[in-house]
Amino acid sequence: MTGNADLIARRERLLGRNMSLFYEEPVHLVRGEGVWLFDADGRRYLDCYNNVPHVGHCHPRVTEAIARQASTLNTHTRYLHEGILDYVERLTATFDKSLDAAILTCTGSEANDVALRMAQAVTGKTGVIATDHTYHGNTAAVSQLSTRMPPVGGFGGHVRHVPAPDSYRPLGGEPGDAFAAAFTAKVEEAIASLEQSPHGFSALIIDPFFANEGFPELPSGFLDGAVAAVRKAGGLVIADEVQPGFGRTGRHMWGHQKAGILADIVTLGKPMGNGHPIGGVVAGSETLNAFRKAFRYFNTFGGNPVSCAAAMAVLDVIESEKLIENAATVGAYAKAGLARLADKHDVIGDIRGSGLFFGAELVTDRSEKTPASDLATKVINGMRERGVLMGKLGIHQCTTKIRPPMPFTRENADVMLSTLDDVLSGL
Ligand code: PMP
Repeated sequence: MTGNADLIARRERLLGRNMSLFYEEPVHLVRGEGVWLFDADGRRYLDCYNNVPHVGHCHPRVTEAIARQASTLNTHTRYLHEGILDYVERLTATFDKSLDAAILTCTGSEANDVALRMAQAVTGKTGVIATDHTYHGNTAAVSQLSTRMPPVGGFGGHVRHVPAPDSYRPLGGEPGDAFAAAFTAKVEEAIASLEQSPHGFSALIIDPFFANEGFPELPSGFLDGAVAAVRKAGGLVIADEVQPGFGRTGRHMWGHQKAGILADIVTLGKPMGNGHPIGGVVAGSETLNAFRKAFRYFNTFGGNPVSCAAAMAVLDVIESEKLIENAATVGAYAKAGLARLADKHDVIGDIRGSGLFFGAELVTDRSEKTPASDLATKVINGMRERGVLMGKLGIHQCTTKIRPPMPFTRENADVMLSTLDDVLSGL
């Protein structure tokens, strides 16, 4: 693969070292269509990884909407234009009525950055609670929230981390109510600690599906205690919907709706424009106005007519192709297939997820639940060799990350499952 070696060397020279690249033998992609990706040699891969091309790679309705608007007008939001208004009206109609306004950004990181400042504008405090093992983005402010990539110079005194919920190894050792109570107690401890600090307590920021943390199976109501503690202390709940949003988890449009909680601020990204860079922050108009008054925010590219056209087309396709229902039915079918594989392969310790975001936690010993992180790497590479692209994540980095474009079919799931069976049999 001299071609790949050349590209790798050019990347390093032109883009710098330590730029992450998937797979022992990286994939050189040239084209995408629906759930399929094609490499430079014309080989086809089943995409079980990418949530950004939410309605399918290069969906014609989205590419047409982008092309039409790009050849008509594209500019910033300091002029009047219906595009952003029509989009925000349609978007906010999918939320609780208390969340009726939005700021549009270009990335999920920017959205979370804005959300933290919104909470600051409302509460006058800066202390934030996040789960460990999470990721909320790459700006100086939000990289403070991630323990996986600790910020240079260390964490600011305004951040407290609570253990990410892990349904396979529940905090305190007991599942059910005891597990939820143990999580709530950690949040209460963190609130008390921030209240005693000069920063005070401003917000709890969570992905309500805990996707990067390994998407634990949490019953509806699990987060009620933590949310009540936040509200009691005068703080805000920020739901990061970059991963579970836009119907990914099946049945619900938003992860916090699935979790049965009401958020004060919701942040959006990845799937919103099907690959076109658009993110957003949805909140009540009072919260939004408090932020605008305090920070006078402007984002040159955020909410431009082309981005809004792309995002509107995504909502159209989700609805017209019934992709949320598809996520629910195909996801359940694929998860049941994984459960059958678990009967055959001891390495599968746990199966979790919802809709088209699911996977298996791999272990070297089922009774000890010993994480099989190296083995997971082998599995991912074995899948790639056989033409199926997926990833791994979670607290121990040993859970397969299966998160395909939403038009994924049962036939696609069968291909993924039989390939996984093959790879696990060859271990
Ligand atoms: N929040 C979550 C939960 C994410 O997973 C990510 C990206 N992986 C982000 C925020 C950041 O989004 P972006 O890369 O668009 O800045």
